Amino acid sequence: MTTSRPDVVVVGGGIVGTAAAAFLAAAGARVTLVEREGLASGASGANSGVVQHPLDPVLAALYRETLDLYRDLSAADAGFRMGAEPAGMLYASRDEAAVLRTCESLGRLFPYLATEVATGADLERLEPALAPGLWACRVGIGFPVVPAASTYAYATLAERAGATIRQGRGAALATRGDRVVGVEVDGRLLQADAVLVAAGPWTPELLDATGDWVPIRARWGVVVEVDLPAGPRHVLEEAEIDEAIAAAGADAPLAFDPDEALVDVSLVPLGDLASVGSTFLAREPEPDAWVEPLLLRASAFVPGVADAPIRGVRSCARPQSLDGRPLIGPVPSRPGLFVCAGHGSWGISTGPASARLAADLVLGRPAAVPAALDAGRFGAPT
Ligand SMILES: Cc1cc2nc3c(=O)[nH]c(=O)nc-3n(C[C@H](O)[C@H](O)[C@H](O)COP(=O)(O)OP(=O)(O)OC[C@H]3O[C@@H](n4cnc5c(N)ncnc54)[C@H](O)[C@@H]3O)c2cc1C
Repeated sequence: MTTSRPDVVVVGGGIVGTAAAAFLAAAGARVTLVEREGLASGASGANSGVVQHPLDPVLAALYRETLDLYRDLSAADAGFRMGAEPAGMLYASRDEAAVLRTCESLGRLFPYLATEVATGADLERLEPALAPGLWACRVGIGFPVVPAASTYAYATLAERAGATIRQGRGAALATRGDRVVGVEVDGRLLQADAVLVAAGPWTPELLDATGDWVPIRARWGVVVEVDLPAGPRHVLEEAEIDEAIAAAGADAPLAFDPDEALVDVSLVPLGDLASVGSTFLAREPEPDAWVEPLLLRASAFVPGVADAPIRGVRSCARPQSLDGRPLIGPVPSRPGLFVCAGHGSWGISTGPASARLAADLVLGRPAAVPAALDAGRFGAPT
């Protein structure tokens, strides 16, 4: 068996794994990143493409740090660009009370976010592409980005700093007693002082072969990309849907049935295109079957969507943890093993800052991980 000796093996080539690899390599670690399909082949490549405040007080600091990291990444000439100013988010509904509740709760939880309610002629001036009869809460957040661009850019930075990125299937943890000493890929042992698992929704199967420890599950989403040159300037989302999704939890039995499944109308404009989404499904869907229901629902908010030419359909799995927040840090009772996964709907918006924390922990540096994000809060894998 050929043996190489990287200091750190990172498993997973999504936004979290590539960002962690970039930070670790920049800090001088010898890094190998192992990805089984291709970089950004999961949700990191097929998301809706908005860097957005997660509207969770525990995650707010991760979002703010991620904005700073993205400004650095934009300046690094690695293929990622984020605008200097947010496009603005509109939480919209025909239900006035729902919009007022959204604005009130956002203002209370995040007083630094300027919110305003608009309807009628005011809303038409603010966002002419919207259907009449809507109410909306406007918040000064939401940076549209090319969905996969940050992942590729961090992979570029990682390689520039000396990291090796390799494709390999069947990664399994290599252990000596309880200690994790590397990863076996395609029958080859990659020895390491530390292994960081950033495998999104597939993280539990790598950490716990028994299948008993499953704090992160796949929550599938479909996004339809359409031509919409005269579409909204704002990022649009249906008011109060986040609360409904959070209340449903990761265990909710979401069926492949448009009438039963949770659908969150979202629309993210980028140039002449718009990403229209999305579903929250427990099973992998047939994406084409969702095109019509998604566009129909979105057209009630933005009429132009109804006959917009379709450019593509994509589907991917959110790594949804049981409480909607990521698991970051050392895995209990497994020396040498670290995890950074479970970012749910917010991985593009908070993944880089989480990865920075995880990289610091791997390097033995101080890192202020909130207790609410502790990797051991759902018990230890067996
Ligand atoms: C429809 C949809 C829209 C979204 N929109 C947004 C948005 O607009 N803004 C936002 O912030 N977030 C959004 N998200 C969430 C965001 O996309 C995810 O939280 C984020 O991409 C997760 O990144 P990750 O690196 O943790 O996981 P992933 O992107 O899933 O990456 C994990 C990688 O690990 C690899 N892997 C798995 N197992 C192994 C193994 N055994 N060996 C080697 N490699 C392995 C996989 O192939 C994959 O490439 C959206 C999600 C969905 C589903």
